[in-house]
Amino acid sequence: MNELDTEIMAGQLVKKGLTPVHDEESADLLIFNTCSIRDLAERKVMGKLGLLGRAAKKHSIIGVTGCMAMAKKDTLFRKFPHLDFVLGTNNITDLEAIVDEILYTNRQIHKTDDRFEENLDYLIAKRDNQVKAHVSIIRGCDKYCTYCVVPYTRGEEVSRSPDSIVDECKRLADTGYKEVTLLGQNVNSYGKDRPDWGCLFHDLLARIDRETDIKRVRFMTSHPIDITPELMQAVRDLPSLCEFVHFPLQAGSSRILKKMHRIYTREQYFEKVAMLRQIVPNVSLGTDIIVGFPTETDEEFEETYAAMQELRFSIAFIYAYSARKGTPAKRWKDDIPEEVKQERLQRLLDLQAQIGKEERQKFLDTTVEVLIERFNKDGKMLKGRTRCWKKVILEGDASLIGTLQPVQVHSFHHETLLGKIPQSNDLLKIV
Ligand code: SAH
Ligand code: SF4
Repeated sequence: MNELDTEIMAGQLVKKGLTPVHDEESADLLIFNTCSIRDLAERKVMGKLGLLGRAAKKHSIIGVTGCMAMAKKDTLFRKFPHLDFVLGTNNITDLEAIVDEILYTNRQIHKTDDRFEENLDYLIAKRDNQVKAHVSIIRGCDKYCTYCVVPYTRGEEVSRSPDSIVDECKRLADTGYKEVTLLGQNVNSYGKDRPDWGCLFHDLLARIDRETDIKRVRFMTSHPIDITPELMQAVRDLPSLCEFVHFPLQAGSSRILKKMHRIYTREQYFEKVAMLRQIVPNVSLGTDIIVGFPTETDEEFEETYAAMQELRFSIAFIYAYSARKGTPAKRWKDDIPEEVKQERLQRLLDLQAQIGKEERQKFLDTTVEVLIERFNKDGKMLKGRTRCWKKVILEGDASLIGTLQPVQVHSFHHETLLGKIPQSNDLLKIV
């Protein structure tokens, strides 16, 4: 979501006549579009802002946008007097006006509205990637997990109209984009705030599939409680919808889940995964896990370990709990020592690395459909992804970028499958 907001802000500034530069030194305007989800993300920005303050002020204008702007508001000016503006997640449309105002008045400005009004010009986004795009469908979150700042930094859920989303997807397809990722803190709450539209998340997916030429649709992220049978059927039935579902477990113990206010138990989560796997047998699952939540015992951590062993996610984002100001969990003692959190984190990372390796092994000698996105970092090999979000590296030239190709997997390393485009793929099974 932050990346998309950055693209929209860049688009606004380019429209205004500004030119992007690629080095900090020559920039007249520096904007830090920040994240507050964990303490580390905030500390990085605070460190950087401090450094900029100590150096003689070379940049005309420095601004902070995003979640940290919402969490810290104008208190940032006290700590960083050289800062010119603080603009919240719900005020992106005000960026142009604020830059003008600063140029004319030279005053510090902050604007941090609590609620998002759907008035953004999404079509202005300045995207670097020409093959796949992020598309915002709902902002904010009403779930209030006890550890999470998002409901406070992004406000309540506000869905974007289906016509506007479908129109953006059509335009993206017309300009050559092959894949969209529909974005929201909880995409499958989509439309619940607007019963008058009669368009829930699975209805929106069906419209995009039917009315646009986008080849692949993904979504991020989804709360398990709202992963409905209708959504599972959509993953099975809609040709454009990829068979990958991010299904954030967070913890394997029902007591911890309750304390996190995740509104499902371990058993209910397992049942839902079983139902999804029954309806979509070739689905891949991703997850998010937090270790060291206040009061998490060794036994409860082992429940998370066992759940990951049993459920075998194809990708897992694993974090150590970080107490966030303003959240209910912040009021509880952060009682799990840092070394214990790190040890639990490492055990899960090792487990996931092993599972990932075994999963990649299963792809050997199969042929997968890959959307070729760009050259890999080495500049020689091409990089793309399968429908189930596995990264694939292969040989080929620039003309293949933006195309869907069958790729035969011959080996793998780290997180990556290595393959080649077969001469004749008639007899090969595409997965
Ligand atoms: N809406 C998504 C999550 C968005 S935040 C969902 O509910 O799944 C992305 C991930 O950051 C969360 O899933 C969680 O695993 C992690 N996270 C959020 N707050 C955290 C905190 N205080 N400490 C550690 N990890 C956190
Ligand atoms: Fe945060 Fe996700 Fe929970 Fe919303 S559903 S509060 S974004 S973890």
